[in-house]
Amino acid sequence: MKRRWKTFTYPPCEYGLQSEKIREIIMSTIFEKIISGEIQADILYQDEICIVIRDIEPQAPVHFLVIPKKVIPRIGDALQEDQSSLGHLLLTAGKIAEQENLSSGYRVVINHGKNGGETVPHLHVHVLGGRQMRWPPG
Ligand code: AMP
Repeated sequence: MKRRWKTFTYPPCEYGLQSEKIREIIMSTIFEKIISGEIQADILYQDEICIVIRDIEPQAPVHFLVIPKKVIPRIGDALQEDQSSLGHLLLTAGKIAEQENLSSGYRVVINHGKNGGETVPHLHVHVLGGRQMRWPPG
């Protein structure tokens, strides 16, 4: 008997999903898998609300990500009920920056959507430091 799955193609465009949606389904699992422990990461800190990991492709001598454990795709999708968690992300960013000896300064970035340069659709706060930052950003 022929197995029908052999004829399947991926990504599943035949199901009418838009490429943006497909990307979201695939990519959202990266940070979720790190949170669940399925994928390893260099974890700097975690508590019940967030996890802090070193970025796998650092853009500065120090580059870490503060990621909420709750799946919020991007900052514009956050709800009123997320207000205290969002504050917690920024307070944690500051605390870990201090722990990482970034007293000379650092940059905090959130990329929203395509034009913002977002590649992983699970909200995360970038913290970059250890070098002089430029303005305007690229
Ligand atoms: P953004 O482009 O703002 O969505 O940022 C996504 C960030 O996640 C990029 O800086 C990536 O280098 C980083 N990243 C992707 N996969 C991993 C991973 N497995 N561990 C750590 N950082 C990652």
